Amino acid sequence: MNPLYRFLLAFGLTLACLPACADPAPGSLDVHWNEGAADCTKAPQPPLQVHRYNAQTFILRESPCVTFEAPFMYLLIGSSRALLIDTGDVADPKQVPLAKTVMDLLPEIGDAKMPLIVVHTHGHLDHRAGDPQFQSLPHVQIVQTDLEHVKQYFGFTNWPNGVSRIELGDRAVDVLPTPGHYPSHVSYYDRNTALFFSGDFFLPGRLLIDDTEDDIRSAQRAADFIRDRPVSHVLGGHIELDAQGNTFDFGSNYHPNEHVLQLTKQDLLGLPAIVAQFNGFYTQDGMYVMLNQYRVLAAELAAFVVVVVALATLIWWYIRRRKRARLARA
Ligand SMILES: [Zn+2]
Ligand SMILES: [Zn+2]
Repeated sequence: MNPLYRFLLAFGLTLACLPACADPAPGSLDVHWNEGAADCTKAPQPPLQVHRYNAQTFILRESPCVTFEAPFMYLLIGSSRALLIDTGDVADPKQVPLAKTVMDLLPEIGDAKMPLIVVHTHGHLDHRAGDPQFQSLPHVQIVQTDLEHVKQYFGFTNWPNGVSRIELGDRAVDVLPTPGHYPSHVSYYDRNTALFFSGDFFLPGRLLIDDTEDDIRSAQRAADFIRDRPVSHVLGGHIELDAQGNTFDFGSNYHPNEHVLQLTKQDLLGLPAIVAQFNGFYTQDGMYVMLNQYRVLAAELAAFVVVVVALATLIWWYIRRRKRARLARA
């Protein structure tokens, strides 16, 4: 082959390969997350835990003692901008000084802090309650969580299809629509570290599914997206399982012997088959508990109404019987 053609071919292949073949920047997940406590008043612990995955990637978590949701947030720092994914469950900076902690982690460009974009995986309050802490800060942009804003900001013209991209300077993050848990849910893929941030769409805990068809399609879309890409870890919004795969009680401030945060590429590739089994109400497959919380709540409410009506009927019947017996005696 002509040496020029050979060079052009090799150059072209290298370019085509760049997003998928570059070695992901390594990082550490050697961390023990604060597990909360059975009695938080007797076991004081920091409200916010910060883990340095690598020099430009930080994982933050609100303590289970501050909020039973104990959500995770992720800070990715590029060469010109930084990205914060989610702002947690607590608005009050005195309770959780999220904005101060994040701003302290940002490098300076010139004599100002690096610009920050605050995005979310989705609009449930436990992922955006900290937004107000960032509102008045200079060089900070907050992306709202409703579907219209999400579509507009990321430039999705055929939601939920297509992949958008955020450029942070020498660091690109892909944005992938993953509705099902929430109508405007998105996941993020950091090309630099090959970390996939899955929010509440996929996590070691309860998979709350509001729209089954959307969720099945999102699982398939996510699996197709990562199939030919490196994935170092899949990081979700919460941990709700212990190391044996049993769910902690809902609302518990105590997470002893917690499951690790990270799931694997193989786990995410297996998600379409798991979600396909969901009956739209409650289904368990191994450690994955899938439920539609609104339907389960409605069923519990209906069961409660049935019990109340049955009890009222019983009491009415008993009173009537006693009244008749009294009349008969008279
Ligand atoms: Zn959620
Ligand atoms: Zn959540």
